[in-house]
Amino acid sequence: MAEEQITLAEAKKEIGPLRQQLIQWGKEYYEQDNPSVEDYVYDRQYQRLVELEARFPELVTPDSPTQRVGGQTDTQLAKVTHDIPMLSMGDVFSVEELHAFNERQQSNLLDTAPIEYDLELKIDGLSLSLVYENGRLIQASTRGNGVIGEDITANAMTIKDIPHQLPEPLSLEFRGECYMPKESFVKLNAEREANGQPVFANPRNAAAGSLRQLDPQVTARRNLATFMYYVPEYEKLGVTTQEEALQRMRDLGFNVNPHNQTVHSEKELAEYIGEYTAQRDQLAYGIDGIVEKVNDLHLQTKLGNTVKVPRWEIAYKFPPEEQATVVREIVWTV
Ligand code: NAD
Repeated sequence: MAEEQITLAEAKKEIGPLRQQLIQWGKEYYEQDNPSVEDYVYDRQYQRLVELEARFPELVTPDSPTQRVGGQTDTQLAKVTHDIPMLSMGDVFSVEELHAFNERQQSNLLDTAPIEYDLELKIDGLSLSLVYENGRLIQASTRGNGVIGEDITANAMTIKDIPHQLPEPLSLEFRGECYMPKESFVKLNAEREANGQPVFANPRNAAAGSLRQLDPQVTARRNLATFMYYVPEYEKLGVTTQEEALQRMRDLGFNVNPHNQTVHSEKELAEYIGEYTAQRDQLAYGIDGIVEKVNDLHLQTKLGNTVKVPRWEIAYKFPPEEQATVVREIVWTV
């Protein structure tokens, strides 16, 4: 593709309002749980910002949405510091882009055998951290800005699939996604409409609004659920691959999504994407893409992170038309 002709002055003029717009949409989405635009609109403008900043690195600012994990914390909820930051995730929007990402990753790891990937569904909810001490749940928090999150321990205690006590005396943090099943979302919005309250834009925002409540009894009534998928200090679990980490979490009593798959070729990768792109409407919860993770946990550590995202995982996001269809279908079919 021919490189766009744009001068530094033109880029400067475009980038200021673009960044402000994205910051504003970020506030609506992360802090107010009430987005005014569809995700694909946000994603398109975000990609434009990435492009401009790549062309003119001197225009990158520390407060740019490309340099920070989205979201601040609600002032009314107590704060929690994440000793290991909770990061965002890079994304691609086509299978071709995903192949290109994999090729770059493989060539950066010259001495490594072909990379094995663990594929998972990208659950459309919000990140959740659960901390256990001697096997007992002592703290639950949101991602917030990645370093400071919100304490939602009392709320998490009301979510039925979160174990309060593990079968082993582990002192460890587990991370995953909190989500609202499609059926609960439709029911909740119908109730809100009947009561003259504003409805939630989508299950993700309904989950975020329900988990970040001051009154845990409200959370308890909202029928939230979780899928856990990450153990930052995996060595303490005695596992060496993401696949094993997921299985260990299942054995400990966490809810772990059953659809993960380890793949060894681009063909298997494309098949998985095809399968879940076709099946997504039939699932009882929303997904907005596929997450590809390097399966070897030591290799993950070797690849490390940027300021904002891990280098060992990437999200393949579903095309926008389907996104819109899914929301329409939830409303019509449930
Ligand atoms: P993200 O939500 O796109 O991806 C990262 C998150 O995916 C992780 O933090 C994790 O919580 C989640 N996830 C779900 N399943 C997972 C799995 N199996 N393994 C690992 N992680 C999993 O990134 P983000 O930084 O939270 O948000 C950026 C996205 O939010 C944008 O791409 C955009 O779509 C949306 N957004 C929309 C608006 C709007 O106005 N509509 C505004 C801001 C952001």
